[in-house]
Amino acid sequence: MAKEFSKNIYNSQRWRKVARAYAESQHYVCERCHNRSFIRNGKLPRFIVHHKRHLSPENVRDDNTVYGWSNLELLCIYCHNTVHGVSLDRECLFDDDGNPIGIVDHI
Ligand SMILES: [Zn+2]
Ligand SMILES: [Zn+2]
Repeated sequence: MAKEFSKNIYNSQRWRKVARAYAESQHYVCERCHNRSFIRNGKLPRFIVHHKRHLSPENVRDDNTVYGWSNLELLCIYCHNTVHGVSLDRECLFDDDGNPIGIVDHI
């Protein structure tokens, strides 16, 4: 389920710009597995710009937490699911060409 407090952020132009710039800076390489899953599965994984400190109602107004690169991590969808485990979250997903395709509820 979407968390209401972070919905506006993930839908915002500002977040998409930041997420895109960050993903580009990482050359769309997963920071954890370096796209080993790409080799394993034979197709490019999707990427998510993840917040290391997860957004919460308390920190959602803090620009450094939301938009600061030090709190971001580019993960492929496999690693991202591992990070979150069973928790649900919404973040910015990229298609195979690296274009932000908006928001997903990930599993
Ligand atoms: Zn990965
Ligand atoms: Zn995440």
